[in-house]
Amino acid sequence: MKSISTYDFKGKRALIRVDFNVPLNKETLAVTDDTRIRAAILTIKKVLEGGGSVVLMSHLGRPKNIPEDKFSLKNCISTIEKYLGFPIQFATDCIGERAFEKSAALKPGEVLLLENLRFHQREEKGDRGYAELLSKHGDCYINDAFGTAHRAHASTTIVAEFFPNDKMFGYLLEKEIHSVDKVLNSHEKPLTAIVGGAKVSSKITIITKLLDKVDNLIIGGGMAYTFIKAQGGKVGKSLVEEDHLQTALDIMRIAKEKGVNILLPVDTIYADEFSDSANMKEGKIGEIPDGWMGLDIAKESIEIFRKVILESKLILWNGPMGVFEMKNFQKGTLEIAKAVAEATKKGAFTLVGGGDSVAAVNQFGLADQVSHVSTGGGAMLEYLEGVELPGIAAILK
Ligand code: AMP
Repeated sequence: MKSISTYDFKGKRALIRVDFNVPLNKETLAVTDDTRIRAAILTIKKVLEGGGSVVLMSHLGRPKNIPEDKFSLKNCISTIEKYLGFPIQFATDCIGERAFEKSAALKPGEVLLLENLRFHQREEKGDRGYAELLSKHGDCYINDAFGTAHRAHASTTIVAEFFPNDKMFGYLLEKEIHSVDKVLNSHEKPLTAIVGGAKVSSKITIITKLLDKVDNLIIGGGMAYTFIKAQGGKVGKSLVEEDHLQTALDIMRIAKEKGVNILLPVDTIYADEFSDSANMKEGKIGEIPDGWMGLDIAKESIEIFRKVILESKLILWNGPMGVFEMKNFQKGTLEIAKAVAEATKKGAFTLVGGGDSVAAVNQFGLADQVSHVSTGGGAMLEYLEGVELPGIAAILK
C-alpha cells in the first residue's frame, strides 16, 4: 500500500476525496463550522509541497439530484482559500467538460475544487461509470473523508479501482484509523469506554464489542435509565426502552462474566419536563418520583466516573452523559469532558468519537485537550464495531 508520507507527488494531480460536508448559515450560506475544512489542509499542503497539484471533491448536504445554491461547494471556496493562503479554482459540474479542461490544465501548486458530487445521483449509487469519469481528474487518489468511509459511493470507494497502484489514505483518515486501532488493540491498561447518549438500542453492537476489550465501561445519558429500571429502580418518566430491559440485564451479565467493571450513575438531576425551564431536583437514580425524568448525572456519579477516568491509560468516549444541549443539564457531560481532558494531560490516549460527544467537546472548547476527536460519526461507530468500511477496504485492497 502507498503512503502519503512517502509518495512522490512531483508533477502529479492528486484527486482527493475530502469531507467538506460543513454546516452553512441558512441565509448567507457562509460556513458556520469549518472544522472539516481545516482538518483537510495538511493533506492538501503535503501534495502541493511535494510538487503536485490538487483536485478536491466532496459532497455537501443531501441535494436531490439537481444543483442548488444551498448545497453548492462554492460556499466553501473562501474558507479553503483562507487556510491555504492563495486563490483556488472551481468547476461548476464535477464531470462537466469545463471541469476536465480545468483539471487537465492544472500546474504544480494549483488547486481545483469540484462542485458537489451528489448533484449527480450516480454518486450515492456507487456508479462505476461515474467513478471512472471522476478518476480522470487525477493521476493518484487520496481518500481523506472518514465521515463517508462507511459508504460504498462512487467517490469514496469505487473510484479507487481506477488507481490500483496510486491510491492512499490522507493524513486525516490515517489518524482516524490509527486512533481506533490504538484504543482497541494496544495493550495499555486500564482501558475505559464511556458510553452515553439517548438509546441503548443504537449502541448494543458497540457495547457488546467493547465488552471484549475494556476494563471499565461507564454508562451514562438517557440509556442509563433502561439499565436502572431493568435492575428494579424507579425512574419516573425518564427515557426507557421497555423492549430492551432484558438487553440491559444481558449486558450486565456478560460484563460480569468477562470481568468488566460496569459503572452506572448513582444519582441524577431530574426534572418535571423535558425543558431547560423545568423544575429540577437532585437525588438517587433509582428513586425518581413518578412524573419526573432524569436528564443529567449528578455529583456523586461525576466523582465516581472521574476517578476511574483519571486512572485510565486509554479512553474512548461516545455519547453525552445528559441533555447537554440544555444549560441546566450539561454539567455531567462538561465534568466528564474535563476529566477526559485531565486524563489526556496525565498521559492517557483519549478518543472522542461519534456524534454528540464530539459536539459536546467542541461546545465546551475542549476539543484540543483530548488526543483525537473523530470527524466521522456513523463511520466511527461502525469502525469501532469491527465492520469493514468500504472506503478503507478499497484503499487496502
Ligand atoms: P445519541 O445520538 O444516541 O448519542 O444521543 C445523544 C442525545 O442523547 C443528545 O441529544 C442528548 O440530549 C440525549 N440525552 C442524553 N441524556 C439524556 C437523558 N437523560 N434523557 C433524554 N435524552 C438524553
